[in-house]
Amino acid sequence: MLEKYWYPKIQKYLENEGYVCHGFYKNGKKLDFIDTGIGNARIDVLGIKRASLIASNFQLETIGVEVKHIGKITIKNIRQAASYAHLCTRCYLAAPVERFSENDKKNAAQAGVGLIRLKRKRVDVIVESNKFQPDIDLINQFLWFLNVVFCPICRTYKHRYDPKELKYNGGSWRNDIFSKKNKWIYICNECNIKLSKNTRQYLMARELEQIRNRFEGIEQKLAKTKRHVDKIDNYYYHKYLKLKGKGERSIKRLDNYYYSKHANLNRALKKIK
Ligand SMILES: [Zn+2]
Repeated sequence: MLEKYWYPKIQKYLENEGYVCHGFYKNGKKLDFIDTGIGNARIDVLGIKRASLIASNFQLETIGVEVKHIGKITIKNIRQAASYAHLCTRCYLAAPVERFSENDKKNAAQAGVGLIRLKRKRVDVIVESNKFQPDIDLINQFLWFLNVVFCPICRTYKHRYDPKELKYNGGSWRNDIFSKKNKWIYICNECNIKLSKNTRQYLMARELEQIRNRFEGIEQKLAKTKRHVDKIDNYYYHKYLKLKGKGERSIKRLDNYYYSKHANLNRALKKIK
């Protein structure tokens, strides 16, 4: 496998161009994006970066390089590179050729495939690749195998295993009812914190509101009871005053009655004496 010799050189070239060419295994070891893919087609060297700002819609540049350690390329090689287009926005065929023939360039251009000439100390792009539009959902699924996860809230990609924090990168998974078995939606650490903070604040505000409502209800009930008590007080006070007046008048009447009786008796006694 002499092709392997070229892999690190191509990776270095891509990294200089801003592409990310490796992720991390669960144990924190480097996971090279080498010989990756979904299904039969394997991509020799893969680099990923964000496409230069495209308003609103997120876009990735995924570049796949098919490496052949041969001095002369064939149409079959070009087709093989072109088959990367289901996962790669740019597809290249790289070989340590002296030079690409006009026919090679024509065939490559027809297939939309770029050509890279490999030299011991140089990597030269001779023909640029067309821009392909692979399905982003498929790419996200593919990235999952590379331990790269996509957070649909902040729309960023994260390493599933952070080499600094091996067991847990703070993200979590939510099951999606419309997804097939095993398909979960990933939420990253930052979004988790933001969500839980917001949720805490929301719950606290709701609880405060409930307490306030309950307090107001109690106050209203108290005021009502007080009004009721006042009403009863007034009622009995009036009754009391009425009774008191009545009683006083009765006593006075009785007083008068017995006083006059007493006087009559005295007068009668005087007559008898
Ligand atoms: Zn997020």
